[in-house]
Amino acid sequence: MIYYSTNKSSTPASLKRATLEGLAPDGGLYVPSAIPVFSPSEIELLKEAPFKDIAFAIAKKYTGSEIPPDRLYEIIEECFNFPTPLVPLDNNTFIEELFHGPTLAFKDYGARFLARMTGYFAEEDHTLITILVATSGDTGSAVAYGFQGIPNTRVVLLYPSGKVSRLQEQQLTTAGGNVTALEVKGDFDDCQRLVKQAFMDGSIKQNLTLTSANSINISRLIPQSFYYAWAALQLDRKYPGKKAVFSVPSGNYGNLTAGVLAKMMGFPIDHFIAASNANDSVTRYIEEGRYEPHPTIRTLSTAMDVGDPSNFARLRHIYANDHTKMAADITGYSISDNETLETIRSVYDRFGYIMDPHTAVGSRALELWREQMTQADSNPAVVLSTAHPAKFLESIREALDMEISIPDRLQTVLDKQKIATLIGSDYNELSAFLSALD
Ligand SMILES: *Cc1c(COP(=O)(O)O)cnc(C)c1O
Repeated sequence: MIYYSTNKSSTPASLKRATLEGLAPDGGLYVPSAIPVFSPSEIELLKEAPFKDIAFAIAKKYTGSEIPPDRLYEIIEECFNFPTPLVPLDNNTFIEELFHGPTLAFKDYGARFLARMTGYFAEEDHTLITILVATSGDTGSAVAYGFQGIPNTRVVLLYPSGKVSRLQEQQLTTAGGNVTALEVKGDFDDCQRLVKQAFMDGSIKQNLTLTSANSINISRLIPQSFYYAWAALQLDRKYPGKKAVFSVPSGNYGNLTAGVLAKMMGFPIDHFIAASNANDSVTRYIEEGRYEPHPTIRTLSTAMDVGDPSNFARLRHIYANDHTKMAADITGYSISDNETLETIRSVYDRFGYIMDPHTAVGSRALELWREQMTQADSNPAVVLSTAHPAKFLESIREALDMEISIPDRLQTVLDKQKIATLIGSDYNELSAFLSALD
């Protein structure tokens, strides 16, 4: 498989190059030259298969001859050593819980696969790759735990001192081993500026092979299609002849883009619901056909607070910039913070199920879509649950007036010793730190 840049001026890349570069040299996002399609008989064979076999079948089409199948299978077994439950709410609504990985959020799927692909390609080149990331929270922790202990890689994370939650800080600063946390005396913009400067600094690049791990990396996107295929096939067995609808809580739109790939690969998916919070640039585009990004608005579903989503360029490219085609597959809704809390409450009252604010945005959007459908829609629907409610205790307290217990793996992180190096926001300090790495 060959990968092209959405900006069309970089030379086509192997998966290895696309993974190690992240962003294409022309500033575009890598997309597969053609989306691989599964034949109906291939799909039939996968219907009874476990998650890892579905993941392997998909990954093989994207890795081609770049990774030996045995090694790829091992990578997949290591990545997805936790369950992906499809929990029924009522007789045709399901919650796909994507929060059973180490950081209790769906970003583990992408980060764990990216880490192992990076490690594999770095080993092939006998190099040590340094992943440099600025984070305001969730991406950084998935990256820290994703790359932890992966040979031929090391991670340097920059986070703004005092501006991440205690839980996030613990997740960023306790991975240890090949993961170093730099606590920056400044804000998130300072962290991003420092990382950008390092990427442009020739003297640093002479000694270190630097790469980023943000959500535009194609090797973070591919694994996110696995859980769509898995859920769609399970529902196809239960409801023969009916295709699944997915409601996707969205921020940078990587998750939704991966779902569209799964549909185009031939998995039994009918429609997508793009669920956004007040940051509605894409949902407005789907409605009106004009893309006019707004500045970011702060909401309760913080991981979806994105004014100008990075994966939107890739989503548009996949639909050949055709708004009508995109709108035929995707319906968008924007959900307010009040509706989010109201949904956490009403879902709990009706089903006894506690959902985090991001999942609640997805759940409400699905309800709106069903209300809007003129004929009764009997397709089974899946709401992707992107985070464990224990990560958002304040919202749960506000909506339900109750305390929920913290899962053991989260408690373990909270009990660990924080290890971080404090640096100032002047670039000299970061450059001195990076120069001293060997
Ligand atoms: C990152 C994130 C999202 C948004 O996913 P995108 O792929 O950026 O659209 C939603 N929910 C949670 C909990 C997240 O961490």
